[in-house]
Amino acid sequence: MKTDFLVVGGGIVGLSTAMQLALSYPDASVRVLEKERRLAVHQTGHNSGVIHAGVYYEPGSLKAKFCRAGVEATIAFCTRHQIPFEQCGKLLVATTPVELERMDALEERCRANGLDPERLSAEELEDREPNITGLGALFVRVTGIVDYSAMAHAMARELEEAGGTIELDCAVTAIAEGPDLVSVATTKGIFEAAQLVVCGGLQADRLARMAGFDVDFQIVPFRGEYYRLNARHNDIIKHLIYPIPDPALPFLGVHLTRMIDGSVTVGPNAVLGFAREGYSKGSVDFGDIASMLRFPGFWRVMGANLFSGIREFRNSLSKKRYLALCRKYAPSLALEDLEPYPAGIRAQAVMKDGALVHDFLIRETPRMLHVCNAPSPAATSSLPIGAHLVNRIGLQREVLGLAPASATAA
Ligand SMILES: Cc1cc2nc3c(=O)[nH]c(=O)nc-3n(C[C@H](O)[C@H](O)[C@H](O)COP(=O)(O)OP(=O)(O)OC[C@H]3O[C@@H](n4cnc5c(N)ncnc54)[C@H](O)[C@@H]3O)c2cc1C
Repeated sequence: MKTDFLVVGGGIVGLSTAMQLALSYPDASVRVLEKERRLAVHQTGHNSGVIHAGVYYEPGSLKAKFCRAGVEATIAFCTRHQIPFEQCGKLLVATTPVELERMDALEERCRANGLDPERLSAEELEDREPNITGLGALFVRVTGIVDYSAMAHAMARELEEAGGTIELDCAVTAIAEGPDLVSVATTKGIFEAAQLVVCGGLQADRLARMAGFDVDFQIVPFRGEYYRLNARHNDIIKHLIYPIPDPALPFLGVHLTRMIDGSVTVGPNAVLGFAREGYSKGSVDFGDIASMLRFPGFWRVMGANLFSGIREFRNSLSKKRYLALCRKYAPSLALEDLEPYPAGIRAQAVMKDGALVHDFLIRETPRMLHVCNAPSPAATSSLPIGAHLVNRIGLQREVLGLAPASATAA
């Protein structure tokens, strides 16, 4: 089973890369290997569905660059594939004087990232969103919503139309790179390829270790738990409503998100997960826990974030506390308005010294590219990330003396 390009991972990053490889190298064979029976069942199928504008990210980082390009690319892709999306805009709402100060810094960050946010007073906020209260807000017009699972499936169709193939139920168990080929052992046999790209999300560190990398990071799972508002509240907001994030914390805070199906979700929080792929509350995987406990970076990150970690746990255990987070800006919400909604699990790479990896992390050898960290907004950015990986493969092929690069990303 020999192909020119093998891509491990049937999430949105792997599928975007595979699709763009097939379009860039029409004479080459491209195959995706996915361990589940369906595509997009992990992070790609369990997220907020927000097309992020690029508000928060370090200017000049890959995250900032890919996110900006990702908004346009996502909209163009959805338009071409008739996938519903909406650019409804987002309000970042300050509810305390400290948050108003943080809002100034956030406004500057927006401008450094090429955005032009509108500043709203408390009265202007109330005019625009009668059910939301705050001392002021930033309005970011380009933020939108979409179903990333639908996008991933459209990418899979485009890949197959271009001649690519997808192996489902095919878990990678070993990877060996030789001078001419990479050999990949799976539950469906051995696959060989001239080039391998690995986009394994929550399993990225294990796949990198399998391939012989000296892995100095580990994926730590952070659950993102949601509620859905009772359907009578589907019109409670016109935009997405976000709190002003605490710069000391890596996640964005519980927000109100209009989903593309018309419902409104509340969340996600960020609670340490005890299973990388266990979605129900209380899921435990002893192998995942053991590898976390053995990793020095885990203890350092827990030590540095002990108080916020305990607070997130308490908010997760108590619906009342969770509600209090949203009532800061949506005071009319009541306990009975929050209905169950499936959680997602973020793959967060943590270095040995306990530093959270905020940007994309890519490791490579002559014949392999491993995406080791693809945090939010990687769904928004999936098309530019795929284009970037295709370009890097082009460079690798030149070094190897293979066909020249002709990356013409979608
Ligand atoms: C709660 C939450 C909210 C988010 N909200 C947003 C948002 O609003 N906007 C946004 O842009 N981003 C958001 N994100 C981030 C975004 O969803 C992810 O960054 C993105 O989906 C990552 O895609 P991926 O393809 O790298 O990973 P995944 O979708 O997790 O795919 C990885 C795939 O690799 C497969 N795999 C792993 N190991 C193996 C193996 N050994 N063999 C074969 N296959 C394997 C897995 O089964 C999986 O299908 C959110 C994420 C979460 C969890």
